[in-house]
Amino acid sequence: MEVGRRDKRGGMIVTGFDDKILICCECHEEFAFTAAAQEYFAERGYTEDPKRCKTCHTQYKKAQREDRHRFEIKRPELGLSD
Ligand SMILES: [Zn+2]
Repeated sequence: MEVGRRDKRGGMIVTGFDDKILICCECHEEFAFTAAAQEYFAERGYTEDPKRCKTCHTQYKKAQREDRHRFEIKRPELGLSD
C-alpha cells in the first residue's frame, strides 16, 4: 500500500487520512493520532499505528537511549573471547 507519497515537484498528495483515537499501551489513556501525524508516519515508512501517547513515547525513547548507552558501556566487559 502506498500512502503519503510526494510528487516530483514536492507537492503533497492528499491521502485522505482522518484523525484517529488510539489507546496508549503504557498509561491506557486515549490519544489522538492526527491526520498530520499519520501522514508523517507514512512518509517515514511506518505502517503501524503508534502504541504510545506522546508523553509515554518520549519516556520510552529516553529509556531506549539509556539502555543502549548502558549496553555500550557494558559490552567491553563481556570480552569477545570466542
Ligand atoms: Zn501514555
